[in-house]
Amino acid sequence: MPVPFETDPMAGILQPAAATAGPAAEQAGAVLIVDLGAIRRNYRRLRRELGGAECAGVVKADGYGLGAAEVAVALTREGCRTFFVAHVAEGIALRRALGPTPEIFVLNGVPPGAEPEAARSGIATVANSIEQIDAWRKAAARAGLTLPVALQVDSGMARIGMMPADVDRLAADRRALQGLEVKVVMSHLACADEPDHPANERQRRRFEQLAARLQENGPPTARMSLANSSGIFLGPAYRFDLARPGAALYGVNPRPGHENPMLPVVRLYAKVLQTRRVEAGDGIGYGHSVVAEGPTRLATISLGYADGWHRRTAAAAWADGIRLPFVGRVSMDSIVLDISGLSPDRLKAGDLVEVIGPHQSVDDVAAAGGTIGYEVLTALGGRFHRRYEDADRDMDGRDGDRT
Ligand SMILES: *Cc1c(COP(=O)(O)O)cnc(C)c1O
Repeated sequence: MPVPFETDPMAGILQPAAATAGPAAEQAGAVLIVDLGAIRRNYRRLRRELGGAECAGVVKADGYGLGAAEVAVALTREGCRTFFVAHVAEGIALRRALGPTPEIFVLNGVPPGAEPEAARSGIATVANSIEQIDAWRKAAARAGLTLPVALQVDSGMARIGMMPADVDRLAADRRALQGLEVKVVMSHLACADEPDHPANERQRRRFEQLAARLQENGPPTARMSLANSSGIFLGPAYRFDLARPGAALYGVNPRPGHENPMLPVVRLYAKVLQTRRVEAGDGIGYGHSVVAEGPTRLATISLGYADGWHRRTAAAAWADGIRLPFVGRVSMDSIVLDISGLSPDRLKAGDLVEVIGPHQSVDDVAAAGGTIGYEVLTALGGRFHRRYEDADRDMDGRDGDRT
């Protein structure tokens, strides 16, 4: 695979046609590149896996930190028409970006008091309790509208969603859903990334039972939805009518322990602030947690825990295919690298080194920090210069091949 940034990391970054966000590249300490074309290909890949089932896009937490509007617009171009966010404010912002057509569901449910604004904005709640259904029904009556709703049942995760007793109450009361149009009946899997975990099958059966009870009362048009990214790979029985992938769209491996079927989506390059040479006995960084054993060349890069690079993530940076290990502690705004492996004049202030990219995936960074790719992505900071690439679109905005 060609690695365009190996020798000249700025070459692609200054492309004029690209959409950007955040501070200008010259001002920023690091450059985050989001490959929307890869997100689109990942969406197609999931759709292939899903056969005929619909594929939604989960763009909560600002599209897992990558930009909800940019991601959702790219997915819309692939035919995606159903989106999930976590918060009402995320839904309202997304509605502005997408216009009136796509469905937007708020996974955490619309909180008490926020119903009128949510209804006006064309946001659908994921009702997780009888109280949320009641409040949503009242909002519908006040607005004189039929409001869309998704009903979430707890099939065995004990996190959010209606309990079996709530489902019984709903099934017994025909008026409970008056003024509401049930678009989706859904639940969430606790152990989808462990295909052999017995909870998966248990949850699937319970979901089918609870959904059947709800359908006794609701319109038959409601789509059933259980699978997140990993759930899609549990097999046809988990697909139902609508899948809700997030992480896999963004390149996180939905099948831990197996080869990643998704394409990488993000690259992160950090700027060199300074280089120096230290001698044996010199302490490096806070707490002098590392003391040089001999002459060592160091580079300090403009990336730290305030950028979402967790303090305990001892990874490396890369330049010219050479690994540049972190030395000492991660600071708020900087990290020190051992660059002894590079020729002495290779790096100077302003040069970029890879910290997420072909040599070090999001999942690699997560493993180095004892966490998951989800947390790495959603933590990526607001100080980066961001650039959106879409190799599937030509300069006139037309779509390229759709294979
Ligand atoms: C976050 C979330 C998803 C998406 O999960 P991924 O593992 O990122 O695919 C789907 N459904 C619900 C209810 C969620 O909270």
